Amino acid sequence: MKEITVEKTLAPKARPQDESKLGFGSIFTDHMFLMDYFKGEGWVNPRIVPYGSFTLDPSAMVFHYGQAIFEGTKCYRRADGGLQLFRPQDNLARMTRSAARMCMPALDEQTALEGLKKLVEIDADWVPHQPGTSLYIRPTMIALDPQLGVHAARHYLFFIICSPVGSYYKEGLKPVGIYVEDEYVRAVRGGTGFTKCAGNYAASILAGDIAEKKGYSQVLWLDGVEQKYVEEVGSMNMMFAYGSHIVTPMLNGSILPGITRDSILTLAQQLGYTVEEKRLAIADIFEDIRAGRLTEAFGTGTAAVISPVGELCWKDEKLVIGGGQIGPVAQKLYDTLTGIQYGRIPDENGWIMKL
Ligand SMILES: *Cc1c(COP(=O)(O)O)cnc(C)c1O
Repeated sequence: MKEITVEKTLAPKARPQDESKLGFGSIFTDHMFLMDYFKGEGWVNPRIVPYGSFTLDPSAMVFHYGQAIFEGTKCYRRADGGLQLFRPQDNLARMTRSAARMCMPALDEQTALEGLKKLVEIDADWVPHQPGTSLYIRPTMIALDPQLGVHAARHYLFFIICSPVGSYYKEGLKPVGIYVEDEYVRAVRGGTGFTKCAGNYAASILAGDIAEKKGYSQVLWLDGVEQKYVEEVGSMNMMFAYGSHIVTPMLNGSILPGITRDSILTLAQQLGYTVEEKRLAIADIFEDIRAGRLTEAFGTGTAAVISPVGELCWKDEKLVIGGGQIGPVAQKLYDTLTGIQYGRIPDENGWIMKL
């Protein structure tokens, strides 16, 4: 592992006073972690420096050909004031898998993890205290070569920035309405669906915008070939409960292998639910909702952990799920996973990394 240098800020910013107004991703801490990659040299110069702007050449490849990948993980404050991370090494391993698809270099995961931990320790006072709040951590990798030729870059920047974020649920877990997108697609077989690349998001914004105008909070994507099978929601994987049986789309290369998805599938089995990963036709899901067999639907992702879905709209048919209320399975899984993340429940899966 390479030595990480630290330059502390001489002008610390005022930290947000009112933690109930934090929102998501608009305030950043005092420092950031940076590391360069040069072809032939590998990852060099890992450093923590004051948070600030970059100066990039307008021809930098990231602006033109979009070699940009990112991750999202969180640091949680326990009731005793201590801090803990949740499966951060899995995020860095996923970034290396994203990088391979984007022809970007494998991350030096060990140095990146040390940098992540050191950065959070230096900015520890920025981790908020109120229930449900956390420090959102955003590792990112971009291509920097000032070069308009289309090819893999030779110089990359890896950086980590941190943002204190508010409680996703101020009034308890509120079910959301989701719009099943049947025109645009997010990912196709052989594409970049399984990566956390910026381009996947760029291509999704239009559908999200249209859904919002129709009164839905997010889009549910169908497969990119037949538009018959459930893939996932904007930044969440989807799960459906039939009583105590949970089904979720299997990982097929076009959906993102969520760390929350994996954690929920593991916990669900430990709690005595049965789980099944398979191809799920949206027509069958709608039939099962109409027939009352499907009792709950929810999304899983780092930001919200679990987001119950109270209504689905597909081709102008609107169906309410579980009376529009959060169901017992989603509530139990939410309570258990957040309990582990905030240190209220013992972690029996080796997921927690205490700082
Ligand atoms: C990040 C993301 C998820 C959720 O992944 P987690 O690791 O659980 O946060 C799901 N779908 C997409 C498209 C994502 O980008």
